[in-house]
Amino acid sequence: MFFIFGSFILQSLSIELFLSIALAKMSMGKIKKLLVANRGEIALRIMRSAKEMGIKTVAVFSEADRAALHVRFADEAICIGPPPSSQSYLVMEKIIAAANETGADAIHPGYGFLSENEAFARKVKEVGLIFIGPSAESMEIMGSKLGAKAAVAKFNVPLVPGTAEPISDITAAKKIAKEIGYPILIKASAGGGGKGMRIVESESEFEEQMERAVSEAISAFGDGAVFIEKYVAQPRHIEFQIFGDQHGNVVHLFERECSIQRRHQKVIEEAPSSVLTPELRKKMGEAAVNAAKAANYYNAGTIEFILDDKLNFYFLEMNTRLQVEHPVTEEITGLDLVKLQIKVAEGEKLPFIQEDLKIHGHAIEVRVYAEDPANNFLPDIGTLKTYKRPQGHGIRVDDGFEQGMAIPFYYDPMIAKMICHDETRERAIEKMIRAISEYEITGVETTLGFCDFVMHHESFRSGNFSTKFVESFFKPEILKSNFTEEEEMIAGVLAVELMAMTPQSQATLISPDKSKWRKRLKVER
Ligand code: ADP
Ligand code: ADP
Ligand code: MG
Repeated sequence: MFFIFGSFILQSLSIELFLSIALAKMSMGKIKKLLVANRGEIALRIMRSAKEMGIKTVAVFSEADRAALHVRFADEAICIGPPPSSQSYLVMEKIIAAANETGADAIHPGYGFLSENEAFARKVKEVGLIFIGPSAESMEIMGSKLGAKAAVAKFNVPLVPGTAEPISDITAAKKIAKEIGYPILIKASAGGGGKGMRIVESESEFEEQMERAVSEAISAFGDGAVFIEKYVAQPRHIEFQIFGDQHGNVVHLFERECSIQRRHQKVIEEAPSSVLTPELRKKMGEAAVNAAKAANYYNAGTIEFILDDKLNFYFLEMNTRLQVEHPVTEEITGLDLVKLQIKVAEGEKLPFIQEDLKIHGHAIEVRVYAEDPANNFLPDIGTLKTYKRPQGHGIRVDDGFEQGMAIPFYYDPMIAKMICHDETRERAIEKMIRAISEYEITGVETTLGFCDFVMHHESFRSGNFSTKFVESFFKPEILKSNFTEEEEMIAGVLAVELMAMTPQSQATLISPDKSKWRKRLKVER
């Protein structure tokens, strides 16, 4: 009797145990309150989707962000410390404590900050919260570029020729570089944000560049491991958005072309890419899905490829998070990727299969940074004296600021992302040109003028460009002065008028956007 009863208890206990392990493993459960461990436009963007799903939101903020829009938007907000991110947005314990204090049941990390930190993902799960993202194990596999390459190679994903291990012995490394053929890249395995990467044109500069790469890698990532990759000539950066659920399904949501970069960092992205044929898209899409499967991946992720001038593609790395440029994918697929992330984190299955997905029209994103393109794209931090967004059909602006707000010097100087969507690439470009001319920002220099230059450039318009666009075509003088003598003279007359005006009307007259100057000059004539 006891034996039968005992085994019954044991049995039901083990079923319960099994279920709780399975649930914990899959981080299931409806989310009621979401803490967003980020700031600026991405925090707002995530909270908006959560709100539409009936989920309460919690913001965290540093002392520099007390008046920030994400703080005002959230249902609740908690200060997590002084302005430097190392004392606030990057402190896992403070963020988890804020979640516990507010009774949040899930955390969305956004991008940057803790988003690709596997220890954070693990901790969040350990304290019984849902992490909106992949598992810590997947992050670990994809966290180092070398580890990621080793994992995807087993799934027949093509790699850029290079070393599979970190290099340490200079003589041996030089020998490998010679075999691969110069130019080569020395890259930090832990790298990100375009940092820790050095081009080596010839053997004579090898040692110097390697030293620089190692020291940059140590100071930026606390890990000096570097490796060699062939430097692909005239490359294009093409990445695939992938999505997986916790039931083993993985699809791709097509590509994004991200070749317009400065300092190896993206400024303009678009979807679809004008160089991909349906066949190549299929092939690269399948490789992207395989790469994700190599890490048992679920939730949103991006597989980055480099494409050479003969349309051969090679895996670069995987970003295990929502990407800055995800809106272009949203525009062409009609999907809300944040809602999808939340549903997948709750344990739902993907509501579609690959064959259901189609590309609708064309989307372009420009990143509006407080940077001076005429001065090497250096950050230009200040107060937004004027800030007026463009409006109209097919224009989306994701930002985190309003007029009068200061851009804190502690964080990434991105002010906004502007996305234009239309039926064709040509129309999306025309729309973007119109939208840029309507965007008014004074008080800081921005990348808008540069983006306008790109939209007009023959190379961009023809679709025939590479990651070399900026160094090949962009000269700072282009933005400094392209006025005719007559225009300069009228500008002089306007300047005299300006002295007699109120500060408010002065601000609207002095716009860094030259098309607006031109409009006014035309009116004056
Ligand atoms: P994406 O492809 O999404 O643009 P990035 O690698 O450029 O990816 O990084 C996304 C965000 O995270 C950017 O705002 C970037 O400034 C920030 N970021 C990424 N890595 C670093 C880093 N090592 N240091 C500082 N910021 C970083
Ligand atoms: P990060 O982690 O900084 O994003 P990536 O490996 O994704 O580093 O590279 C960032 C950018 O650097 C790419 O988008 C591309 O422009 C350039 N790049 C990287 N690897 C190569 C390569 N092997 N050949 C040519 N360009 C490269
Ligand atoms: Mg990258």
